[in-house]
Amino acid sequence: MNIHEYQGKEILRQYGVAVPRGSVAFSPDEAVKAAKELGSNVTVVKAQIHAGGRGKAGGVKIAKNLDEVRSFSKELLGKILVTHQTGPDGKEVKRLYIEEGSDIKKEYYLSLVLDRATSRVVMMGSEEGGMDIEEVAETNPEKIFKEVIDPVTGLNAFQARRMAFNMNIPAKLVNKAVGLMLGIYKAFIDKDASTVEINPLVVTGDDQVVALDAKFNFDANALYRHKDIVELRDFDEEDPKEIEASKYDLSYISLDGNIGCMVNGAGLAMATMDTISYYGGSPANFLDVGGGATAEKVTEAFKIILSDKNVKGIFVNIFGGIMKCDIIAKGVITAAKEVGLAVPLVVRLEGTNVELGKKLLNESGLNIVAADSMSDGAQKIVKLVEAEGGVTA
Ligand code: ADP
Ligand code: MG
Repeated sequence: MNIHEYQGKEILRQYGVAVPRGSVAFSPDEAVKAAKELGSNVTVVKAQIHAGGRGKAGGVKIAKNLDEVRSFSKELLGKILVTHQTGPDGKEVKRLYIEEGSDIKKEYYLSLVLDRATSRVVMMGSEEGGMDIEEVAETNPEKIFKEVIDPVTGLNAFQARRMAFNMNIPAKLVNKAVGLMLGIYKAFIDKDASTVEINPLVVTGDDQVVALDAKFNFDANALYRHKDIVELRDFDEEDPKEIEASKYDLSYISLDGNIGCMVNGAGLAMATMDTISYYGGSPANFLDVGGGATAEKVTEAFKIILSDKNVKGIFVNIFGGIMKCDIIAKGVITAAKEVGLAVPLVVRLEGTNVELGKKLLNESGLNIVAADSMSDGAQKIVKLVEAEGGVTA
């Protein structure tokens, strides 16, 4: 789960990490009021969306007076911001963060991520901050430093110091940087984060070490023990289909292809997506209906796929183990009857109650193409979608 920059900064503040003063605003009036209260010479108006790259896309504005705060706020609120992280459709700006301007001397990069290869939290830092870290990783990988953190000892002060020196933080500010790193690490662990990215971390003209941006991502499996974090969830930032799916405890992720997939088991779902791609198609989603799904759950899952305007064909690929094929058939039939099925549907069923499942589908009157195997099904749906004029990968 992601949160907004201003929410992330509030968490950092609680852990003693220096962040600029600021407050959230939902209208130009609120923005001006917030700027008045800050009373700083320079005020920064920052679009709050769950994506980075706002600066380059015009989502961060430097205002020198209250009139500018008002005009920038008017300009940004309601604007669709397209950054390299939003995808081509962009995201609508509905909140602003009104923050005091920092006198930036130099921008650095600092993050904590869970490294799945070592199963450890890794701190990464670089003196090349404020820009795409991916670009630095490509052009100057030697400028990115890593500290692998032992979960028993946590981040050691000596590791933080080594990082600060590697990042070329001015010697007299190393202790401040170390304090900041330890605070960020504590926040990361306490809140079960999976990423915290501070880009940029800055050194200011008056020798402060400040987190100027904050990007948090939390482990969804640990949210049950963080009610305070769950409250920060902003549904406006999430795909409505994914919100709907989460209500029914379905693992669903929207993708930008046009073949809807309904599969049971994450491994089979991945294999199905790969097979579709192999035959030249492009999946519209990842969907794992799980093992013990009821007919109602399958119905909702199928409705979510049907609600996606980009879907030009559907491939149901089920290996019935715990999941029974007749349950799948019932769900598909109910959903198709309720909302209509205007696109080709290929079904491949195998396993528990397969005969009953096939019988139900055959007698349903739905226009279904049966498939004998995963690759047969993938080829059939790709051909059908192509025949409909759908664009494939
Ligand atoms: P994003 O990563 O989405 O582009 P940032 O919060 O990193 O957004 O802001 C982009 C750039 O804007 C920063 O690298 C910094 O140069 C400038 N900036 C952001 N906040 C402030 C601030 N409070 N004072 C001065 N400059 C800022
Ligand atoms: Mg940034």
